[in-house]
Amino acid sequence: MKKIAIIDACVDTPEEIILAGDLDAYRLFGDPSIAPTTADEHVPASHCVWTRNILEQGLRGLPNDIVGLVSTHGCDCTNRQFDIWLDTVDLDFMYFLNSPLKRDQTAKDFFIQDMKELIRQLEDHFNIEITDQKLREQIVLMNKIRRKLKELSEYRTKMMLKFSELHQLIKSTLTTDKTHALQMLNEKLEELKTRESFSDESLKHVLLTGSVIDDNSFVKNIENAGFHIVIDDMCIGTHYFWNTMDESGDPLEAIANYHFEKPIYSTKVPSHQRFKFIESLIDKYQVDGVINIAQKFCESILYDHPFLSDKFRQNKMPYLFVEKEYNREAYKQLSTRFDAFAEII
Ligand code: SF4
Repeated sequence: MKKIAIIDACVDTPEEIILAGDLDAYRLFGDPSIAPTTADEHVPASHCVWTRNILEQGLRGLPNDIVGLVSTHGCDCTNRQFDIWLDTVDLDFMYFLNSPLKRDQTAKDFFIQDMKELIRQLEDHFNIEITDQKLREQIVLMNKIRRKLKELSEYRTKMMLKFSELHQLIKSTLTTDKTHALQMLNEKLEELKTRESFSDESLKHVLLTGSVIDDNSFVKNIENAGFHIVIDDMCIGTHYFWNTMDESGDPLEAIANYHFEKPIYSTKVPSHQRFKFIESLIDKYQVDGVINIAQKFCESILYDHPFLSDKFRQNKMPYLFVEKEYNREAYKQLSTRFDAFAEII
């Protein structure tokens, strides 16, 4: 099946629209083994390392079965870099979807209008029809996936599933045919029912938050430093499955409501609502500390960090803020920071 690539600073792209056009939604992830040398000819090296890495992949050429791209507004980096994609990357179909920062009625109406325009352009370009009925079918399928992922996530509290494993499952879901993904998640749930707990009292239970963290080996590095990521506030994490969509009524209204009601991410405002969500997770999952990871030059996380830092200090919640490069060699330099944090909590 033809694939539509997704660039998303969070998980704000309505995959249902792409799927309803009988196209596969294929989220782009960074590749820590490449350096953004060509991307740096177009963007200052002080821009977010993750977006420069994705741009580098676009400039080098995406796989042949990717026939188009939807870039959804997250932060200013993803927004501004879309113009560079338009100019420099060889793809016939590219669409920038405005996902509003605010969550009021005007913003919702605007978002619905923009989704209608995306549908119109997909239909015109690929000679397809995206009907309400097809959208509803995809909403039902995606809800099943969200429920399965949430069920899987809860196995973290029983110490039967590490976040690194859940993280990899979410990444696979974001890049494979969704019917296949649902089957994969069902099989994993069956397997988990027979799995032994890895209960280890020396592991510190933490909440992980921060920028888009898509390199699974980075997550494993954190775990190897003595942490169990019992819950998270990540886009490749809880934000992908925490809520479900209304399956009746107008499908675009349902999609918009879902995105406006799901937990607020660092790319959106206001920060205090995000803090409330994190605080509720800390209470529910009995967290020992919070780790906040920023991709280097991630403006959203850098703006939020002082506010979060103050709040956690007031609540006496141990908090570690780390800015990371997008290459595995550089991860090693962070190990002492993780080790020291594990010791103090
Ligand atoms: S890591 Fe930060 S700056 Fe980079 S795309 Fe994500 S939100 Fe934007």
